[in-house]
Amino acid sequence: MIQVNQNYAKLKESYLFYRIGQKVKAYKEAHPGEPVYRLGIGDVSLPLCDAAVRALHEAADDQGSAERFQGYTPEPGMPFFREAVANYYAGRGISLQTAEVFVSSGASDELGDILDLFSRESAACIMEPAYPAYLDANIMAGRQIRTLSAGPENGFLPTPEENPDADLIYLCSPNNPTGAVYNREQLKAWVDYANRRGAVILFDAAYEAFIEGDLPHSIFEIPGAETCAIEICSLSKTAGFTGTRLGYTVIPKELERSGMNLNAMWVRNRTTKTNGISYILQKAGIAVFTDEGLAQIHENIRIYKQNAKVLMEALDSAGIRYWGGKNAPYIWMACPGGMKSWDFFDRLLNEVQVIGTPGAGFGDSGEGFFRLSAFGNPEDTKIAAERIRGLVARG
Ligand code: PLP
Repeated sequence: MIQVNQNYAKLKESYLFYRIGQKVKAYKEAHPGEPVYRLGIGDVSLPLCDAAVRALHEAADDQGSAERFQGYTPEPGMPFFREAVANYYAGRGISLQTAEVFVSSGASDELGDILDLFSRESAACIMEPAYPAYLDANIMAGRQIRTLSAGPENGFLPTPEENPDADLIYLCSPNNPTGAVYNREQLKAWVDYANRRGAVILFDAAYEAFIEGDLPHSIFEIPGAETCAIEICSLSKTAGFTGTRLGYTVIPKELERSGMNLNAMWVRNRTTKTNGISYILQKAGIAVFTDEGLAQIHENIRIYKQNAKVLMEALDSAGIRYWGGKNAPYIWMACPGGMKSWDFFDRLLNEVQVIGTPGAGFGDSGEGFFRLSAFGNPEDTKIAAERIRGLVARG
């Protein structure tokens, strides 16, 4: 009889968003017609920018034209797409060869697929609270997991001194769910650690576009990263591509382990396991990286950041401690009065009809915290912020 992957039996039931959905459904059934204010989702609410929409239409027309029709695309990415991403990095002073850029259908897909490159015997280091896919993808692969706790004591940014003792190191900066961002010195410590140990850093830069000021958007701003890091990025949050699906991954040519070249291994992987990413989507992707596209997506990001500001002002006036919000679309707040995160969820929903995400859903270190998302509608965000302030003031 076929033996299935028994590691799936070790997965904890992924019930965070399901449980939220059930609670909201029950509330709405009991209170028909009453509005609820959603600050829980990680999805975007603004549509694609005009430059991307125009490119989608034009590319669809290309597919209907005998002269411009595009069949299979090269698996690592269309040259025009790889070049546009390399130029985007060049704009920040990072020099990449186009062959170091790979197209993907999003960061989530890539975070799972990339594990093919690593032996199952290598342990993975995950900093909790964490984006849940890191943990589950490694459990499915049967990998040992070492957890580092992120909390107020380390500014939600664990360091290598905390001894991860693992060879596959996940760094997510700006972080989901905490909004914390590593500075150059802190990232340099991780890069040096990975190079010394022969480890590989998987750097999740899904929220890089939300950074303001002099903080690194990319691990490749750090000297030495080209010999120890892979960067996984996405247009989902940068440009509203959550439902359109497009991302990119950077694997330096210099990255070698056990005498093998990881860039060459990924070419082999993609050419075996994919048949390329849609031409139409890659055309929309390059439209995002034009001056017009960048201006338009930054306008959307400005709107989300304004939402974050409204929420932060409400928390300030309620005297609640929080992290994130400035360089990230998430605000990570301490639950008032030492409440547990699901208890706070219930109070917010039942008393002021606001929905957020309980920190405990991102791992044990998230208990006692709560995530608010700035991706919602601005009017609803204003109402929700005022309601949260009022609830905390009431005690
Ligand atoms: N990485 C992080 C940290 C995320 O929060 C998300 C989505 O919420 C992803 C990756 C996945 O992004 P994508 O839509 O590109 O799969």
